[in-house]
Amino acid sequence: MSNTNNLMVYIQCDENTPINASLEALSKGVELGKENNLDVIVVLIGKFDENTEKICKDYGANKIIEAAVEQYNIKSYGEIVTKLVKEYSPKLFLAGTTPVAKDVTAYASSKLDMVSLSNVSDIKMQDDFEFTIALYGGAVLRDASINSDTTKFAILSSGAFKKVLSPVDNVEIIKEDCSEQTKDLLTIIKESVTEISESVNLEEAEIIVACGRGMGTPEGYKLVEDLAKQLGGAIGATRPVTESGLVARTQQVGQSGKIVAPKLYIGCGVSGAVQHLSGILGSDYIVAINKDEDAPIFEVADVGIVGDAMAVIPLFMEEIKKV
Ligand code: FAD
Repeated sequence: MSNTNNLMVYIQCDENTPINASLEALSKGVELGKENNLDVIVVLIGKFDENTEKICKDYGANKIIEAAVEQYNIKSYGEIVTKLVKEYSPKLFLAGTTPVAKDVTAYASSKLDMVSLSNVSDIKMQDDFEFTIALYGGAVLRDASINSDTTKFAILSSGAFKKVLSPVDNVEIIKEDCSEQTKDLLTIIKESVTEISESVNLEEAEIIVACGRGMGTPEGYKLVEDLAKQLGGAIGATRPVTESGLVARTQQVGQSGKIVAPKLYIGCGVSGAVQHLSGILGSDYIVAINKDEDAPIFEVADVGIVGDAMAVIPLFMEEIKKV
């Protein structure tokens, strides 16, 4: 195993605030760091400020490496991570499941000829790190170890680890010169367009009400939307519903959509196909409303309501008003 005494965590920010998936990875990194006497080095690439540093400090970072980069580019981000891993030889490189984290870990691990694991739902240290990988949406858990002395890259499943505050007094901040990695890029983003959505960001949402094909009509969707509004939650959807154009593609949950980890997920007219379930199993509490009592979603639901969601949702909303 590499003889350095650190592990690295890649932190992705949204408007200078680390996103939940990254803070879950940092919290797991800090736990492993404490158990194994390893410094936790946070890697920030892109835009960040003092607020970002404070949050990383509150979640237990010992060292923060800051690479200020104007815009996202897989090559520049990947080259920065490659350089840092070469320089610090961390025992682990952890990241939460995000598209950028997938890009940079794939880029750096392949460039360095190192192993990268994704969907990691647990990490333990015996003689070396032992990983648990969640397959088929968490239906199968497989143990894995990496027979190599080099850095092990791991992308952690959203919701598999809890965010834990662990404030640190002194944090070393290192400003990384990344002029080399940001020049001569083959692609340049000339314009980026942000989709303005009234709903809350799905990956950060504490409550998600999901619209399945069973509620995939304008009337059905309106009820799902009303319930989400009443609960202050975000709207999610299954693939057939986003493909029908009723709900934006950005709201799709599942294997080819977003992996979510809310405190409460309510599936309305969702059957519970494995490709959808793989996106919701990090939820703390799952409620399913479906008129078919044999729908597979009931196998993972904490509370299942068998009935017509067109009738159940209004009753549900009436009851919530009384609370
Ligand atoms: P259905 O399976 O058609 O289920 C509709 C449900 O609504 C049924 O259970 C029915 O009983 C119930 N229902 C009908 N009317 C009512 C009513 N009035 N009240 C209550 N219940 C009612 N799917 C995703 O969601 N996300 C993904 O990311 C995704 N990625 C995929 C990737 C691949 C490679 C493939 C092959 C598929 C993927 N899918 C994905 C599709 C997935 O396999 C399912 O087809 C999809 O999840 C089913 O969506 P659904 O539950 O809305 O529809």
